[in-house]
Amino acid sequence: MFPLEHINLTIDFIYKHILEHLTNDRKIRRVSHELMNLNSNEKKVLYVYEILKEYDLIPLVIKEDKCPQKSDHYRNLGNTLYQRKHLSMAWQHYNLALMYAPLPHTPCDCYVLALANRSAVLAAWKKYEECLSDIETVFQHSYPDSIRDKLLKRKKICEDALKEQPTSNSEDEDKLIDDIFSLKVPKHEKYIDASSKLTVKYTPELGRHVLANEDIEVGEVLVQEDPFVQVLLKSQYTISCAKCFSRTYNLKPCPYCVVTMYCNEDCRTKAWDQYHRYECPIVACLYKANFTKLELLALRTTILAKTGHTSTNALLKTLSEADSCPNMEDLGCQEVEGKKIYSSKYYSSIHTLATNVSKRDISDIFQKCVSAAVLMHILAVTNFIRTEDDEERKKLKSFVADNMLRHLMTGPTNMHGISTNVENDEGSFEEEYGIASGAYAFLSLINHSCAPNVVRYTKLGTSCITLIAIRPIKKGSQLFDNYGCFELVRDEEQMTSRLIVELEASEIGLRIVHATEYDDVEQKAHHAVNSRQTRQAILLSQYKFSCICEACVDDWPKYYQLPSAPNLPGEVIQMINKHLGAEVIKCLQKADKKRALKEFKPLCKLATALEPFVPCKEAADCQEMLKQCLQILAGVLPFDFTKAIDFDIPPAVLPTQNCRFYTGEGALDLSR
Ligand SMILES: [Zn+2]
Ligand SMILES: [Zn+2]
Ligand SMILES: [Zn+2]
Repeated sequence: MFPLEHINLTIDFIYKHILEHLTNDRKIRRVSHELMNLNSNEKKVLYVYEILKEYDLIPLVIKEDKCPQKSDHYRNLGNTLYQRKHLSMAWQHYNLALMYAPLPHTPCDCYVLALANRSAVLAAWKKYEECLSDIETVFQHSYPDSIRDKLLKRKKICEDALKEQPTSNSEDEDKLIDDIFSLKVPKHEKYIDASSKLTVKYTPELGRHVLANEDIEVGEVLVQEDPFVQVLLKSQYTISCAKCFSRTYNLKPCPYCVVTMYCNEDCRTKAWDQYHRYECPIVACLYKANFTKLELLALRTTILAKTGHTSTNALLKTLSEADSCPNMEDLGCQEVEGKKIYSSKYYSSIHTLATNVSKRDISDIFQKCVSAAVLMHILAVTNFIRTEDDEERKKLKSFVADNMLRHLMTGPTNMHGISTNVENDEGSFEEEYGIASGAYAFLSLINHSCAPNVVRYTKLGTSCITLIAIRPIKKGSQLFDNYGCFELVRDEEQMTSRLIVELEASEIGLRIVHATEYDDVEQKAHHAVNSRQTRQAILLSQYKFSCICEACVDDWPKYYQLPSAPNLPGEVIQMINKHLGAEVIKCLQKADKKRALKEFKPLCKLATALEPFVPCKEAADCQEMLKQCLQILAGVLPFDFTKAIDFDIPPAVLPTQNCRFYTGEGALDLSR
């Protein structure tokens, strides 16, 4: 039997203990030295892998199977929550029960019972069509007679309610919203996710950066980009479609694993073909090891790189072409029908994103090697690198080690969070809420400013990012996004104490903290919310640069210290009174969609009029309200969906029932 504690090895635990061991054995200096002298990602990762093995810190890869007892357990919890009228939590527990339920054609009733119970929540939520769909699915399978009458009664209630429901006229509204979020000019020929009004240049000082080649107005859509890769945050596993992030009430479980749900068959098969066929057997293990989104993104990027090619040789050809690109202008481009294209559609564009490897210290690289080695070990239990051909296997193994580490390094600077705004329990608009994150090749080219001129939006239930100008941008000027920090800083006070810890640790050559602690806290390097000192610390620690934006150079005040604009023209003052007044603020606070639609264009006009007076309070207010309008129009998450449930794999009450282990195949695989 396996030592039980190995089931619970989290990535944080592994990292903490390897550091302790190395410190106690006085090996840190030697290991740092040897690691630094290895000349490839692959060698570095395998070197660290051997150290982990030496100290017995390789996790057992668990496989969690469908299980009637666990399904019943979650369904019963759901019933209790339903009786207490905690509908959202009940719904999520029924989803868990569905994920754990053996498929409906097996002898047990778990699946149909979970569906039947979920339909009760949907009826209570007045989601009649969705409720009918769940009931219909139950009737298509064998089910206990005892629930028949109840379901028929519920079905009748839904059908009657649907007949009486007034048809909503939200279609016109949706059209107007779609219009605001759509690109009005042709797309760029080379940068096919961007407007033809943009262009990309390279200079050694600025790196690749994005410029306007025509004047751009406030409110213009500049980029619409789907990610190459995206991962759902754990808090959303019981709430969203794992593939497209849509908020479907009738989520359907993956037939094989216990932590994945989809909105429909199309999403399921797409996910399966692209990455889930490899992740499915290890998804419980990944969940349990508590990897960060950064690590899960690196893993999935590596998988997608391979499945996006017809053969290992085709993949290697793409890699060697991408790695040997002679000029920065064409870096990351894929040749498509004789044209060079740069887009998140192609792996080349993601492969070539900046790793900042030369700016990373040894502690950072060691930590990332630990993650890469463990991820590689787990992936090796699937047939991802398994092949009869020894030569091919060697190449694949090398590819996995190299790219896992590469994308752990491209991630922190190039990953984009996908968030939405949420309602509070009174239906008002509250703070941002992280849902997922992804890698976007074009958006990654835009440099940072603490006073940005563009903002990113993701429509609720999608992963496509729309980039919109919030300040006028003159022809020849650079586009500036606002980078957030998800890895390190929570607030100024904590940051200071944390930096001291890091400083002490760095003296012995290794860093103590791991990213999970601060995983979902995004701290913005925006001049209105943080001082120059804090912003510089955020940007240096995560993005490895010193900011020289206008707000940093001139040390613009934070929001509350901003001055009023002097001598504003009369017509501008009139606009301010009309569109920045208390009444508008109140409506937008209530997430009033109609009002947001009405105010959008006037606010764009006002932002343009105020631009010459920046930085000033009026311009900051106008920009905030403009952003709020766009957030409301992108979709606000209902309060119910913000209470994500916490669950364990396997559930704490039923420890190891039905939990299987892969018998160390991964370890064997990698040592050979
Ligand atoms: Zn979907
Ligand atoms: Zn699965
Ligand atoms: Zn700055």
